Amino acid sequence: MSAKVKFFGAVRTVTGSMHMITNGRSRFIVDCGLFQGRRDESFERNTHFPLDPRELQACVLSHAHIDHSGNLPSLVKRGFRGRILATEATRDLCTEMLPDSGHIQEEDIRFVNKILKKRGLPPRLPLYTLKDSEEALRFFRGCKYRTPVQIEDGVTVTFYDAGHVLGSATPLIEMHNGTAPIRLAYAVDLGRKNAPILRDPERPPDIDYLILESTYGGRTHSPIEEAEEMLARTVRATAERGGKIIIPSFALERTQEIVYYLSRLIKQNRIPDLPIYVDSPLAVNITDVFRKHEECFDEETLSRLRANSDPFGTERIRYITDVADSKKLNGDARPMIIISASGMCEAGRILHHLRNNIENPKNTILIVGFVAKNTLGRRIVERAPTVRIFGEEQPLRAEVVIINAFSAHADRNELLDYVMPLKGRVKAIFIVHGDEDQSESLTALLKEQGFAVHMPFPEEEIELA
Ligand SMILES: [Zn+2]
Ligand SMILES: [Zn+2]
Repeated sequence: MSAKVKFFGAVRTVTGSMHMITNGRSRFIVDCGLFQGRRDESFERNTHFPLDPRELQACVLSHAHIDHSGNLPSLVKRGFRGRILATEATRDLCTEMLPDSGHIQEEDIRFVNKILKKRGLPPRLPLYTLKDSEEALRFFRGCKYRTPVQIEDGVTVTFYDAGHVLGSATPLIEMHNGTAPIRLAYAVDLGRKNAPILRDPERPPDIDYLILESTYGGRTHSPIEEAEEMLARTVRATAERGGKIIIPSFALERTQEIVYYLSRLIKQNRIPDLPIYVDSPLAVNITDVFRKHEECFDEETLSRLRANSDPFGTERIRYITDVADSKKLNGDARPMIIISASGMCEAGRILHHLRNNIENPKNTILIVGFVAKNTLGRRIVERAPTVRIFGEEQPLRAEVVIINAFSAHADRNELLDYVMPLKGRVKAIFIVHGDEDQSESLTALLKEQGFAVHMPFPEEEIELA
C-alpha cells in the first residue's frame, strides 16, 4: 500500500490549511483551518468539505491559528469522530479560540441575516456555533513535544517546535509500510529565529518529504531590532501630535509580543509612558494560557520570569474584558495605545476602534501582522481612500504604518536556511500557504538550489514512495 498526500486548503493561497494523508487503511488530515476572504466564497468553502469527515481517524493540528484550526467545529459537526492531536499548549489555546470563533460566526450571521431580511431573502445558519466548538474540544488530545504518538498501526506523529506561536509545531509523520519508513514533515507555519517569548524553530531529523509554507516566500523582513525602533518612533510621533495608536492584532502571540516590546521600551525610556490598553477578552484569556506553558519559552523570557519581571506587562498595561470599559475609550481624547483583535480587522472590538479613529489624521493605525486579501486589514494596508466598516464607507485619514518585521513567519532567506541542510536527502518539497506570487518565488529559489520542488494545485494528490 502506498502513502499519498492530497492537498486541499491553503494551496496557492494563504488561509484554510488542510491536507489529507492516506496510508493503507489509515486516513487522516493535517490541519483543518478556516478559509478567510470574501464572505460568500468563505462560507461556501468552509461549509463544503471535499472529503468525508466520518472516514478520518485523526486530525494532526500544527497550531492554534484559526486558519489552521478554525474549521474543526464544522468537521466534528459533519461526523468526524477521530482524535485531534496537538501539543498541550495548542490544545489549551484552542479551548479559548474555538469557542470565540463560534461566537464570531453567530454574530456574523446575525448581521448577514439582517441584510438578507431587508432584501426579502431567507436567513442563513452560522457555519458553526459556540456549542459546536465546545463539542469539538472533546476530541483533542494534548501531546508533548518530541514524543512520538501513534495515529494508527505503523503511523506515528512527533511534534517539533515551530517557533511560530505558542504551542506551534512542525509535525513529523512517520509511516511504516513494511519497507523503509516514509517521513513527512509539515512546516506550516514556520517561525523566525530570535523572536520574543518563543524558542527558535527546530527541524525534525530525517525528512523525506517536506510541506513548506511560503507566506513570505518572495520577501525578506528587516531585522527585529529595526521593527522595535520603528514601533518606538511611531508611538513617539503619534503621541506628540496628540493622537491615538490603534493596533489591530491577533489575540494569539502578536498581542503578547507587542506588550512585551512596549513594556521594554517604556522601561528603557524610549517611549512616553502612555496608557496602554489590551482590549480583547480573548487576548486576556490567551495571555493566561501563556503563563501556563513555560515549556514553550526561550531563555530571555524564562529569566524575566525568574527575576519576577512579568514579560506580559501586568504592572502597567490595562487588560479590558468588559464592553462598558471598552466603550469608555471612545470618549477619552488622551493619546493612548489600543491593541485589539482581530488582526485582519474582520471581526471583534477593533472594528469599533477603527470606526471611531480612522477619520482623524492625528491618529495612527499600526499594522503589525499579515493581512489576507479581501479583508478590511488589507484595504487599510493598501491605503484605500475609503473603507467599509459595519456596512458604512468611511474616509481613511489616519496615518497607516506597517511593520512587517514582527512577522511570526520565516521570510525568504530564513526559509532557505531551514531547508539547506536537507539538500541531497529530501526527496521533494511541496510549497503551500502563500499568495501565488510568493509561492512561485520560493519555488524558483529552491529549484535554483537543486531541490525537487512542487507547487500543488487544489485537490492534487501525490504518491509518496
Ligand atoms: Zn500561523
Ligand atoms: Zn497560517
